[in-house]
Amino acid sequence: MLRAFFVHLSENRSLRNFAEQSSVGRRVSGRFVAGTDISDAVRTTQAVNRGGMSVTIDNLGENVTNPDEARHSAQLYHQIIDAITANHLDANISLKLTHMGLDVDENLARELVGRLVSKAASLSPPGFVRVDMEGSPYTQRTLDFVRELHRMPGNGNSVGTVIQAYLQRSQKDVEQLLAERIRIRLCKGAYKEPAEIAFTAKREVDASYIKLMKTLMKSGIYHGLATHDEHIIREAEAFAMREKLAPETFEFQMLYGIRRDLQQELVRKGWRVRIYVPFGTEWYPYFMRRLGERPANVLFLARHMLRA
Ligand SMILES: Cc1cc2nc3c(=O)[nH]c(=O)nc-3n(C[C@H](O)[C@H](O)[C@H](O)COP(=O)(O)OP(=O)(O)OC[C@H]3O[C@@H](n4cnc5c(N)ncnc54)[C@H](O)[C@@H]3O)c2cc1C
Repeated sequence: MLRAFFVHLSENRSLRNFAEQSSVGRRVSGRFVAGTDISDAVRTTQAVNRGGMSVTIDNLGENVTNPDEARHSAQLYHQIIDAITANHLDANISLKLTHMGLDVDENLARELVGRLVSKAASLSPPGFVRVDMEGSPYTQRTLDFVRELHRMPGNGNSVGTVIQAYLQRSQKDVEQLLAERIRIRLCKGAYKEPAEIAFTAKREVDASYIKLMKTLMKSGIYHGLATHDEHIIREAEAFAMREKLAPETFEFQMLYGIRRDLQQELVRKGWRVRIYVPFGTEWYPYFMRRLGERPANVLFLARHMLRA
């Protein structure tokens, strides 16, 4: 209920314009967002790296409405890759296809993302571009897009995507991606999806996650397990021990600002952890999805609003 309500609010344009321009909004968003500029993302990444974790940097934004905005978003990602190289950061990038103009001109999006992947692939050691997964109208398009990029000579190890355990189709999608040796980030899924295509009960989503997780962990390909769910994380640790999987064969992934205690605990135990660090001025939809995931986050917001 709460989650659906906040996903609905995350799509409200007027609220978004108001929040992104208000100083209170910018302050409270700092709970989950690194800041507004590349320099903020670099500083946060350095701190996370010092804590023994790698990073994926996300320039916040989705659903651009014209080609210039798409080109501008891609340009920012080129600057991020340059900043990663110049500052010797242990980091890669995550992007959304609708931020690269998928809804405006698919060929333009292909050209823009293609250039970013080529740039990442040409680095030494090679970099990596993770194509985030958006709502279900984009699932097939995103998978096709990534498979096409992955087939291009030289790109092989430098592009991957995301599978959402709440979608009933995910088992088949995982099989296809694995057959093509494409790296996957497994998450539960952050959007509101209809019951015809998605598991809606937490129990079902968790069971789907655990099943897919085990398939990924045994695949011999390097994947990311993105969750803060302690029960699932314990299952992953136990499975890795049972199957004698070395810690270098997969990574846990968590969002900036969420369950730092768990992040540090996994590092201390010798597991690999990558933190998703979002930054940028367009933080509202991302922030609202995070609020809806946990009632305590709403109390946190309310406390800050009252203090302002
Ligand atoms: C690295 C990363 C990348 C992601 N990429 C995508 C993507 O491309 N597409 C997509 O649809 N979704 C993505 N997600 C979001 C994901 O789908 C879930 O919405 C989100 O991770 C919450 O699910 P959970 O697995 O943590 O489990 P939940 O069952 O939601 O939560 C388990 C526990 O984790 C903690 N927790 C979870 N969320 C929060 C929060 N917001 N604040 C505080 N505590 C919290 C709580 O202790 C909670 O009890 C990503 C998540 C991560 C970690």
